[in-house]
Amino acid sequence: MRSSKSANPISASFPDFPRIRFPSSVCCFPLRCSGMYGHEATKNSKPKTENVPIMNVDVLCIAAHPDDVEMTSAGTVLSLIDQGKTVAVIDLTQGELGTRGSAEIRLQEAAEAAQIMRLADRQNMGFRDGFFRNDEEHQRTLISWIRHYRPAIVLTNTVEDRHPDHGRAAELVTDSCFYSGLRQIQTTDPVTGAPQVAYRPDFVYYFVQDRFLKPDFVVDITPYREQKLQAIKAYKSQFFNSESPDPQSYISGEPFMKFLESRDRDMGHMINVEFGEGFISKRMLGVKHLFWLS
Ligand SMILES: [Zn+2]
Repeated sequence: MRSSKSANPISASFPDFPRIRFPSSVCCFPLRCSGMYGHEATKNSKPKTENVPIMNVDVLCIAAHPDDVEMTSAGTVLSLIDQGKTVAVIDLTQGELGTRGSAEIRLQEAAEAAQIMRLADRQNMGFRDGFFRNDEEHQRTLISWIRHYRPAIVLTNTVEDRHPDHGRAAELVTDSCFYSGLRQIQTTDPVTGAPQVAYRPDFVYYFVQDRFLKPDFVVDITPYREQKLQAIKAYKSQFFNSESPDPQSYISGEPFMKFLESRDRDMGHMINVEFGEGFISKRMLGVKHLFWLS
């Protein structure tokens, strides 16, 4: 699936994969007010060429496999979008080692889920499922996309989980977000080819997925649980489907769907709401006003 034209094979995106873009709102110029997010690497950074389009999003989710975001943070994504924020997703791999379905089917399912979640954009990096590495080559590819989207917040896989790809993705994303803020690392925009400027997201949060890890905060997703379920079910090849001819997998049984619901209920229970999604932060979080906590 990788483009043979790409000098860096792992950076190839997929020409057939639909870029889900919504109105001009997300394209070209920063949507966020300057000064709202004050990181040193971004404060004084301006594009060298004013006419070079920059696709800003407020939140960028980066996950090892298509369906990771849906299972862990689709409710948070839907909530953010209802608040007027823009969200994009980067899938690192096509999930081609999955027991059921195929890479092509997963791409179609990911596109459908993107529409349900009303994403501004979704890209697949084409890294090797199970074998991608946290090395310079992979970091440079991700850095160019982070600088392309310039998100204030990055959501990514949890630091330690049942699937080894999740923890490795967390390390890769963490390092790439940091290095993205270093101006001596030079990259070009993966869409326009224009030189990029350094940019570092303000926050990286890790979503709790399979193994229970105590979250540092929980987002109330109660109004969005049903829509989240629809986004998960877009992956018809992966989850419970009594008519599927494929062999059973860890996530394909009805009990797994019940587990996903109980995980969201458990997270919600901890903050006195019906459903929630939990996130971990490596750095201490602060608020300016005590009453902003719920
Ligand atoms: Zn995964």
